Amino acid sequence: MINIKKLTKSYIIWWVPSMILKWIDLEIKQGDFIALMWPSWSGKSTLMNMIGILDIPTTWEYFFHDTNVANFTEDEQAIFRRDKIWFIFQWYNLLAKLPAWEQVALPLAYKGWSSSKRYQRAIEVLNEVWLSDKINHTPDMLSWWQQQRVCIARALVCDPALLLADEPTWALDSKTSAEILKLFSYLNKEKWKTILMITHDSNVASYAHKIIHIKDGLIDN
Ligand code: ADP
Ligand code: MG
Repeated sequence: MINIKKLTKSYIIWWVPSMILKWIDLEIKQGDFIALMWPSWSGKSTLMNMIGILDIPTTWEYFFHDTNVANFTEDEQAIFRRDKIWFIFQWYNLLAKLPAWEQVALPLAYKGWSSSKRYQRAIEVLNEVWLSDKINHTPDMLSWWQQQRVCIARALVCDPALLLADEPTWALDSKTSAEILKLFSYLNKEKWKTILMITHDSNVASYAHKIIHIKDGLIDN
């Protein structure tokens, strides 16, 4: 599904170039459930943002199936982000004033869906993450673990092929973490979603089928 080669990323920090990612070759196959495990500040979120083209690397080759993503125009990038890949963010990134169903329905507005179709589809997806009784709740009325499920529903609403989850359980206790991870396993097995998940917790990583370790900006194992 995804073939990334020779990815590097440098930042200039106080006039000194600093290379965060030194040389990443990464292959993701359709149906994979992969955990990326590396220490804090090592560039995990930076890498994930680049896979979802929220950020552009210093150098790379990037193929999604046969499409050369590295050559995309900005409009092609936006369509790719809308249709192919969705993020489950570490900080949820929900909009403060919107009820759950509108958070989930929002991506469909960018596809031009009518409001009644958006509502119907949002309810369907909220149901899949066991939130059908919370559709009118705003984030301040939801626990962290409920907010994370709204975030997962929003990621699923456009039916993307790949889910990118950045430390999806960092704020959760072991019991609710396990529920989120079981939901990922279900989405992977029953809904054929390919999942790439960042974590620094080996218990969390154990739900994945492959674990990739990165050290000092290079794939270690
Ligand atoms: P992780 O998710 O593994 O904790 P990040 O990808 O957030 O790490 O960041 C990796 C490193 O890159 C950090 O040391 C961070 O300070 C640096 N970094 C990230 N974004 C920028 C930026 N826009 N400018 C300069 N340095 C950055
Ligand atoms: Mg991070």
